[in-house]
Amino acid sequence: MANAGRFDLVVRNGAVVIPGVGITAADIGISAGRITALSDELGGPAEETIDARGKMVLPGIFDPHTHIGNELSYEEEAETETRAAVLGGVTTIGIFLRSLEESYLLHLPAFRKAMDERSYVDSVFHPQIFTEQQIAEIPRYAAEFGIRSFKFYMSGMPGIVKSVTDDVLLHGFRTVAALGADAIACVHCETGALIDQARKELQKKKEGTLADWEFAHPADAEALAIQTALYLAKIAGAHLYVVHLSSRQGLEVVRAARRQGLQFTVETTTPYLGIASDDPNGFLVKMVPPVRTKDHHDALWQGVVEGSINTVGTDNTSRVRATKKPEAGLHGSRPGLPALGTHLPALLHYGRLRGVPLELLVERATRAPAKVYGIYPQKGTIAVGSDADLVIVDLDLEKVVRAEDLMGMSDFSPFEGKKLRGWPVATVKAGQIVARDGKIVGKPTGRYLPRAASNRKPDIEWLRRAI
Ligand SMILES: [Zn+2]
Repeated sequence: MANAGRFDLVVRNGAVVIPGVGITAADIGISAGRITALSDELGGPAEETIDARGKMVLPGIFDPHTHIGNELSYEEEAETETRAAVLGGVTTIGIFLRSLEESYLLHLPAFRKAMDERSYVDSVFHPQIFTEQQIAEIPRYAAEFGIRSFKFYMSGMPGIVKSVTDDVLLHGFRTVAALGADAIACVHCETGALIDQARKELQKKKEGTLADWEFAHPADAEALAIQTALYLAKIAGAHLYVVHLSSRQGLEVVRAARRQGLQFTVETTTPYLGIASDDPNGFLVKMVPPVRTKDHHDALWQGVVEGSINTVGTDNTSRVRATKKPEAGLHGSRPGLPALGTHLPALLHYGRLRGVPLELLVERATRAPAKVYGIYPQKGTIAVGSDADLVIVDLDLEKVVRAEDLMGMSDFSPFEGKKLRGWPVATVKAGQIVARDGKIVGKPTGRYLPRAASNRKPDIEWLRRAI
């Protein structure tokens, strides 16, 4: 045969979802970790073949919003949580690094080494900026470690991370903007004073439910903070990336700003799209900002469809029940939840229940974040020359979520006990089959991805539909 031995792997007979192009029947030929052929029928045998008949073939999912090392060491979670990721179809992650006081120059080599040696997925870094020293070092983080995105907390989180005041935020935005048009200022948008007041009110309540937790972080605090961040980003000339939008009020501010022509990016997460504040798992799904009522879900889904929300991530912060302490209730249980292993199934399940086209769901979880963070078309699409990161999905496969099946370090999932429809049956990472039929079958081959400076603005305008 003409093509014998030409490919390391061929994925045959699948319905291939190519963001921006459509869904097409095609075979995908892979050599040396890259996609080298895409054709309606690739002849000849290959070293290895996956028959994807009746299945969808998606670009590997890029979750731009994760936290690693909050429970175990960074090194351990670099392995355990990316194992859950790859099993769930996520092949690249963005990691919000945390060093509250010290220079990241002390920590970046170890963070990078862990992702090169232990991770199942590729990764980019977004250091979280808390101090003036860290702001002063942003150009070095960019030059020495290929970092183009940085995160600021407006409100902080009581007892966990400090808040950043408006003057520091503005200085940080100006420093990020000076790196170039492609640099990104990610912001956790909540106004601290409103949260402090709301929490004080809530302290009067001894007992409470997850629904009460929603009022510790009022939607208005999110909406107001987005306005402030947009204004500061505008005068600094920085590209603002609003992380984890959670509320209808926040979305209204986003829409108004888009109508004025402001260019910025907005993300939401699969927990906010799928889990409501009356969830029977109670404080196991406590997070910041909180999961909210179904009315907010409706708004966020509208935002995803119309394009005022550009990307979908997870805000994965893995914990175990023993330290999450759901029994400690409203004030004592800790925020943060593992969401990498359920990211794609939750997106497919809740999105398709609402009739959102598959191609649009895939765009928001692959091409859009890859473009924003400067790793497209290496990631985020299926094209000749792109990395061979693929996820093969059975849209009809239903599974009840159980933490032990997800292969992370957590002994619970925020979706625990829920039946989700649409699961990966195989994940290909850098041309190798790493997960198959719910089991890990390959080794960690992930790499940290340094990003080169570029003068191109993040290309997200194409994502917008009528607002
Ligand atoms: Zn986060």
